[in-house]
Amino acid sequence: MLRIGCHLSASKGYTNMIKEAINIGGNTFQFFTRNPRGGKAKDVDVEDVKKFLELSKENNFTVILAHAPYTINVCSADEGIRKFGIDTMKDDLEKLEFVPGNMYNFHPGSHVGQGVDRGIELIIEALNQVLDEKQSTTVLLETMAGKGSEIGRTFEEIKMIIDGVKLKNKLGVCMDTCHVYDAGYDIVNDLDGVLEKFDNIIGLDKLKAMHLNDSKNPFESHKDRHEKIGEGSIGVSTFEKIINHPSLKKLPFYLETPNELDGYEKEIKLLKSLYKE
Ligand code: FE
Ligand code: FE
Ligand code: ZN
Repeated sequence: MLRIGCHLSASKGYTNMIKEAINIGGNTFQFFTRNPRGGKAKDVDVEDVKKFLELSKENNFTVILAHAPYTINVCSADEGIRKFGIDTMKDDLEKLEFVPGNMYNFHPGSHVGQGVDRGIELIIEALNQVLDEKQSTTVLLETMAGKGSEIGRTFEEIKMIIDGVKLKNKLGVCMDTCHVYDAGYDIVNDLDGVLEKFDNIIGLDKLKAMHLNDSKNPFESHKDRHEKIGEGSIGVSTFEKIINHPSLKKLPFYLETPNELDGYEKEIKLLKSLYKE
């Protein structure tokens, strides 16, 4: 069975999200843990969580993916900004224990002039503070497009981060199709080659989820502009290959395309029609 969902608004809680996901044919979803523009996370609504867990079971939902606000930067040169990022992640992970066993994705960060090595050092430091032996959530590093001084544009950078983290068993990777293509991994013409590289450098066992996005820009643009499935430079046939690839087909897939619910519903339908059981 294809594990598929899309990014949903979390403003009305878990129960609302799962109902929306069911309505559009999904069996998972992604959401921001809090307003990316900053602000406090809401307190956990125990009734909402309870109802969500029930619906999740009844409808055979697969793991859901929480996304950290993309505005945090745990490798900033500014100590205050780093601390804010670490505190945010800690708080998010604490709250996610109410829905145990899911995943939490974050952007490694931007080194803004400090250099890649220093940036990686700071990300490792942050993760070693954030991760806890007892947590049930797997934290995912997202592969990035390499916009500005973003870290996580190469598999080597992701690997260096993982290598420095103590609790490696709590860590995984989320591959974003728009980002890797933008970063210079040619998933359109050589998907097998890209996955082989990933396997040699990081190990495919670390790949826990994928973001499915087409790209508004050509190969290796480093711009990070998502497009609807089939309307960008990646194209439908590559997505068909991705969701059916023996190394990927069992992963959960999350759409982050520029869509409202009806657009997501169409994309989920399309991907389901292309999936071979
Ligand atoms: Fe992201
Ligand atoms: Fe993404
Ligand atoms: Zn993106």
